[in-house]
Amino acid sequence: MTIFSKIINGEIPSNKVLENENFLAFHDINPKAPIHILIIPKKEVENFQSITPELMGEMTLFIQEVAKLMGLDKSGYRLITNNGKNGGQEVFHLHFHLLGGAKLSWPHLADTDTNKFF
Ligand code: AMP
Repeated sequence: MTIFSKIINGEIPSNKVLENENFLAFHDINPKAPIHILIIPKKEVENFQSITPELMGEMTLFIQEVAKLMGLDKSGYRLITNNGKNGGQEVFHLHFHLLGGAKLSWPHLADTDTNKFF
């Protein structure tokens, strides 16, 4: 069981933004932007690589609703999911980072030569 399962079942508190039967959105404890929300399915799904198209379809609508609720739908936002070890995933329960509230930078993300695949 991950820390996010404990947040879903209320064992660990969270600063909730929106919730329905299948999904939960709450503030990241260590924000990387003025607005940094985590969006998770209540079903235990390890990461993006293992979500079904059906659940992802429903989750898309929920994410769009959260973006609107946070006032980011017009100003813009970044949606990120870290997938697996090289993706930098730390919590192995699928989550999308919804980031906004400022013009975000687009930093170089790896030390290795980015041209070697082209
Ligand atoms: P990732 O590295 O993509 O797996 O992201 C995990 C995220 O979970 C990080 O941004 C953490 O700051 C966040 N996080 C960890 N524990 C909590 C918590 N108890 N409440 C809110 N966010 C958390």
